[in-house]
Amino acid sequence: MKLIKSINLMQRVIKDLKKQYTIGFVPTMGFLHEGHISLIKSARKETEKVIVSIFINPIQFNDKKDFNKYPKNIQKDIKILEQENVDYVFLPQSTKIYPQNFCTYINIENLFSKLCGKSRQGHFQGVATIVLKLFNIIHPNIAYFGQKDAQQTIIIKKMVKDLNVDVKIKILSTIRENSGLALSSRNTHLSNLEKQQALCLYQSLKKAKDLMKKGIRKSNIIKDEMQKIISQFKNAKIDYIAIVNSQNLEDVDFVQNKDLIALAVKIGNTRLIDNIICNF
Ligand code: AMP
Repeated sequence: MKLIKSINLMQRVIKDLKKQYTIGFVPTMGFLHEGHISLIKSARKETEKVIVSIFINPIQFNDKKDFNKYPKNIQKDIKILEQENVDYVFLPQSTKIYPQNFCTYINIENLFSKLCGKSRQGHFQGVATIVLKLFNIIHPNIAYFGQKDAQQTIIIKKMVKDLNVDVKIKILSTIRENSGLALSSRNTHLSNLEKQQALCLYQSLKKAKDLMKKGIRKSNIIKDEMQKIISQFKNAKIDYIAIVNSQNLEDVDFVQNKDLIALAVKIGNTRLIDNIICNF
């Protein structure tokens, strides 16, 4: 496994690799867990050379404190990536990705301003911009993303379609703990008690599933029931609970198959997200 920090070197390596191999790419911010590993395993199965990037992207954090305390353990990450037979780890420097005169950003107005975009101003502009930059450096055949970050997947697919980016986007299921809690690098900030409380996100989604199984389709009824579950925990502060069309993120009054039920909840100081795609 080779570690590459230089953007130029990465581009030269890719130019050679592309002549012979298909390239699978998994962009991450590090502090790897089974969710990341599931993406890497799929890339390993489906493509000939696997590249994982680790880059904590400063421009997607609207809160400097959040950026500074984002968890890191690069040595552990490298061991995991070696075990998974990754071919290249790309570890670019922030000052090289965003030199002083950097001023070009992606904007997908309609999708950025919804759900997480409401409380995280500038977040998706940062995400879309770094993902496009990484695609332009790596030129992957297939790039892998997790359903856990539902809005991100919708935005990336839209960007790729609208800008004719030559890459196939694969979205893989959310990996959870046995308890149902979606794995996230941010879970490390939760105390044991908060981890218990954090289960309310999954429980509320399970409740939504149960209601839909019983034939309930009215979004407001489902959202109210979800809210009731979360409100049982004093420490849990709802940012949003939304039931939306999974293409345009517009609210729907009545759920249909393929709609997205998504929520963001703050447990103490840690903001968590989770979602399901309706399937009944
Ligand atoms: P991050 O390092 O948090 O930026 O995540 C890198 C990639 O891993 C993104 O495509 C995420 O959606 C994905 N990911 C994060 N958590 C999970 C999870 N629990 N299950 C599946 N994919 C995940």
